[in-house]
Amino acid sequence: MSTEMNQEPFDGAQGKPGDDRAVDLVLRPQNWDDYVGQDKVKRNLKVILGAALKRKEACDHLLFFGQAGLGKTTLANLVALELGAPLRITSGPALEKMADLAAVLTNLNAGDVLFVDEVHRLNRLIEEVLYPAMEMRKLHLVVGKGPAARTVTMDLPPFTLVAATTRPNLLSAPLRSRFGASFKLDYYEVVDIEAIVRRSARLLGVQIDDKAISIIARASRYTPRTANRLLRRARDYAEVHGTGVIDEAAALKTMEMLEIDELGLDSHDRRILEIIIDKFGGGPVGLATLGAAMNEDAGVIEDVYEPYLMSIGLLTRTPGGRKVTEAAYQHLGRSHQAKML
Ligand code: ADP
Repeated sequence: MSTEMNQEPFDGAQGKPGDDRAVDLVLRPQNWDDYVGQDKVKRNLKVILGAALKRKEACDHLLFFGQAGLGKTTLANLVALELGAPLRITSGPALEKMADLAAVLTNLNAGDVLFVDEVHRLNRLIEEVLYPAMEMRKLHLVVGKGPAARTVTMDLPPFTLVAATTRPNLLSAPLRSRFGASFKLDYYEVVDIEAIVRRSARLLGVQIDDKAISIIARASRYTPRTANRLLRRARDYAEVHGTGVIDEAAALKTMEMLEIDELGLDSHDRRILEIIIDKFGGGPVGLATLGAAMNEDAGVIEDVYEPYLMSIGLLTRTPGGRKVTEAAYQHLGRSHQAKML
């Protein structure tokens, strides 16, 4: 068992798990001012944290949900910082057995913040042990087997669970109801992403001009982690092919090399749209059928790719399945004629 977070959430169509993790840590905001955007979330969160501090009580359990790379882990760090408590990090898949959860919970000190990433991947058995731990700070453990089995109850110190998920709809209602507050992280505004890219460039010690910042921000899928990774790729390009300064030409060339278009779509995103157009007449097509046609896990399409395609209006969900929009035809330079053939 590991209490380290061993799985970086998959970063959309444009990255691999664990990609450039060390740099990710360098760029992670360490205070509220550096955490750009998400103003409503920050405001509401600060009220809850402030109230808990004033009462000198453990803060309510918190749930953060939203796409990978939008800042859930960063926010959990800030929560711990604000509460003056260490952040203990684990994840749904790491808590596979009862013993895993018991080890994590019994090692907590009063006031600790426990971060569970990918909480939707907890199995039901573990979830059921978590309920009384969250609600009453009791850990019920079954010791022994068969007729000799008995339940031992342990008291836990006051702690705050901060959970993150990309798929809140997969959480069971009882688990969801045990969070005092939940916060949805949305895609960022372009100006916010621009501010993030500017700050990251400063931290990385790389010069970048405004046009390049704008190109990267627009290609970032409105997602900070993607923006930071595109910045690093542009830095690589500028170091190898230019003077080290990221200008408009270097930024454009980087996007071209990565096959990322001006809407931030990469080849995989475009393939999803193309397959729906070419094989299914533009849709509607069911997710499972689409997954089979793409040789891709339907859950990955649903979780990783389609939220962004839907958010920019290229894909819609209808009762009959997924359907591409007129804007998608236009973006791909296709006409509806092609659909009729
Ligand atoms: P998640 O947990 O939602 O997958 P992270 O919190 O790991 O996302 O964020 C990924 C990276 O994006 C962080 O390392 C950080 O550099 C950057 N980042 C995320 N949110 C913000 C923000 N609001 N302001 C500045 N940088 C951010």
